Amino acid sequence: MHISKPNMTILVAGGAGFVGSHLCDALLAQGHRVICVDNFQTGSIANVQPLHNHPGFRLIEADICDPFVADEPIDQVYNLACPASPPQYQADPMHTMMTSVVGTGNLLRLAERHGAGFLQASTSEVYGDPEEHPQREDYWGHVNCTGPRACYDEGKRAAETLCFDMLRAGRVDARVVRIFNTYGPRMSPNDGRIVSNLIVQAVRGQPLTIYGSGEQTRSFCYVSDLVAGLIALMNVDPNPGLPVNIGNPGEFTISELAELVLEMTGSRSKIVHRPLPEDDPQRRRPDIERARQVLGWEPRLPLTEGLALTIPWFAERLRETPPARRG
Ligand code: NAD
Ligand code: UDP
Repeated sequence: MHISKPNMTILVAGGAGFVGSHLCDALLAQGHRVICVDNFQTGSIANVQPLHNHPGFRLIEADICDPFVADEPIDQVYNLACPASPPQYQADPMHTMMTSVVGTGNLLRLAERHGAGFLQASTSEVYGDPEEHPQREDYWGHVNCTGPRACYDEGKRAAETLCFDMLRAGRVDARVVRIFNTYGPRMSPNDGRIVSNLIVQAVRGQPLTIYGSGEQTRSFCYVSDLVAGLIALMNVDPNPGLPVNIGNPGEFTISELAELVLEMTGSRSKIVHRPLPEDDPQRRRPDIERARQVLGWEPRLPLTEGLALTIPWFAERLRETPPARRG
């Protein structure tokens, strides 16, 4: 079912980010050449530092909002370029929107010129604050187009539109994955997402911040499971021609996650409550039947096993970079 040709040249936009760097690792391990394109807005050179001496790896610093011309043939394009954490994508909301719309348009045209396969990293955020639960791909969503999350949600929805228009027109073999909350090593410790925040706070002995009551839910997927799903969708034949949810259906309240992190880190930190951000989705869980049927994919690591791999990475990283002292 997965026909992954050997020795391809694969462009990974956003390849210096959390998910992108794991994808670069996996593609190189399969024997492909990887061109990582990143503007380092939220990614880090440290994420791809170990690949610098790899003969199949090339790093290009560029913003996908600028038209990109590749000086060698490209077989596949993965578009992961976009900040993913709410504080980060809201820091420059116009640029976030442009990254998804103008940037995705640029990469689709690049893929068209090269006859390359294309995979767009979309998001469970296209379902907004969902009125259907769990979320199936045929649910159209409940998104506030004028709120602070819209730069991300609506940008990603527009990027999906571009992909399916290019596919319908026979111009690009485009595929769309809707990624649900994913965690693991190389998340930026200060990017503001829940898993990184809670682990960093617990390891540092700082209060764990829960926004709102903590009764809102999320479903957490370990990064290696996600990467396996991305590669499977890019290479499955025929192209399903529909978006595919990739996530772990295990659903937890934010309070349950905080308790689990306290238990697994052995931290004695207290929990404090902060205001719930505007438009924060109340619950989220993927229906992954389509991924099971079309890709033969399902996640392998339950949350406890993924956290057991993630917590030591953060602890090590935080030992190297202690918090700045207040003067
Ligand atoms: P991340 O912020 O760690 O990585 C994003 C990468 O894209 C960074 O390296 C950043 O510097 C780069 N980037 C951002 N804008 C760019 C631009 N205009 N030009 C070039 N590079 C740019 O986030 P992540 O968690 O690795 O997410 C990767 C992709 O997956 C994103 O598209 C995100 O929307 C999607 N996604 C992630 C999750 C998740 O839970 N991790 C959930 C849903 C969707
Ligand atoms: N959240 C929280 N404390 C934090 C960071 C996030 O309670 O320190 C909550 C946030 O309000 C949301 C959930 O955790 O309800 C997941 O937040 P995240 O930013 O990781 O992802 P998203 O909201 O995009 O799913």
